[in-house]
Amino acid sequence: MSDDLTLGEVLEVVERLYPPSTAQSWDRVGLVTGDPQQPVRRVHLAVDPTLAVIEEARALGADLLLTHHPLLLRGVHSVATTSARGAGVTHLVVGDVALYVAHTNADVAADGVCEALARACGLTTTAPLTLVEQQPLGRVGDLESAVGLRTFVEQLATRLPAAAGGIRVAGPPRATVRRVAVLGGAGDDLFDAVRASGADVYVTADLRHHPALEAREEARGGPPYLVDAGHWASEQVWLAVAERALRVGLGGRATRVETHISTVRTDPWTFVVGADPGGMP
Ligand SMILES: [Zn+2]
Repeated sequence: MSDDLTLGEVLEVVERLYPPSTAQSWDRVGLVTGDPQQPVRRVHLAVDPTLAVIEEARALGADLLLTHHPLLLRGVHSVATTSARGAGVTHLVVGDVALYVAHTNADVAADGVCEALARACGLTTTAPLTLVEQQPLGRVGDLESAVGLRTFVEQLATRLPAAAGGIRVAGPPRATVRRVAVLGGAGDDLFDAVRASGADVYVTADLRHHPALEAREEARGGPPYLVDAGHWASEQVWLAVAERALRVGLGGRATRVETHISTVRTDPWTFVVGADPGGMP
C-alpha cells in the first residue's frame, strides 16, 4: 500500500483553512485540474498560476499547485494551447499537476492574506475592516507606538518581496501614523470603511488615479494616507503563512509532503523610468 497522501486528503486540510463557502459569490475557487485520488508528494504555492509558475511547478515535480488567483474566472470555450490560459490548463493536465485556488476565501480567513499583510505592517491584534457578504474583509489595528509615515513604509518594504515599482505612498513623509488599515490586492473600493475605521494609513494595492485622488481630496491632506504596496507583493506574504498552516494542519502526515514557495515574481511590471519624488522632505 502506498504511503502517499491523496490530493483529496491534502485538500481536506486546505478547505478547513480556507472554506470555499466563505468565498465571495462572484469568485471561482477550488479544484481546477486534478483527480482527488492522485498522490500528492510535493505542493507548490504561488500568487498567480502563470505559465512560468506552472513550468516551475512541473520542473520541481509538484503534484499540487496552490494559488491565490484563479486561472479561469470567466467562461472559456477552449483550453487549447493557442491561448495562454488554455496552454496553462493543458500544461497542468499533461504534467499531472493539480491546480487549486483559494482566493477571496483566503482573503477573509484567519491567518489569511489580509492578516499576513497586517503582520507585515507590524500589527499584532486586528479587527475586520468591513464585512462583505458576511465575511470579514480587510483588517485594522494599532501599531504599538506611533511612527512617521516614511519610516512605517520603509519597515513594510523590508517585510514584503521587492517589486520593480517599489511602494507608492500618498501623504507627507513625516506624518504620524498609528492606526493601520490593510487589504491585500485591489482595495480602492473600501475607502468608506477605511475612513470609518479611523485609520491613519491604508495599505493596499492597485489604487487607480480617480479613487485615490478623491480619497486624498476628501482627507484634505490629512489621514488616511495611502500606501500602494503592489498587488503581487501585498499578497505574496501570505504564501509562507499558508505553507506553515498547511503543514500544521497535516500534523504527523506533513513529513510525507514537501512544500515549496514559488520564486517567480508574477508582478507584471519589470522596470520604472523617471520616478520623481517631487522634492518632498
Ligand atoms: Zn489579488
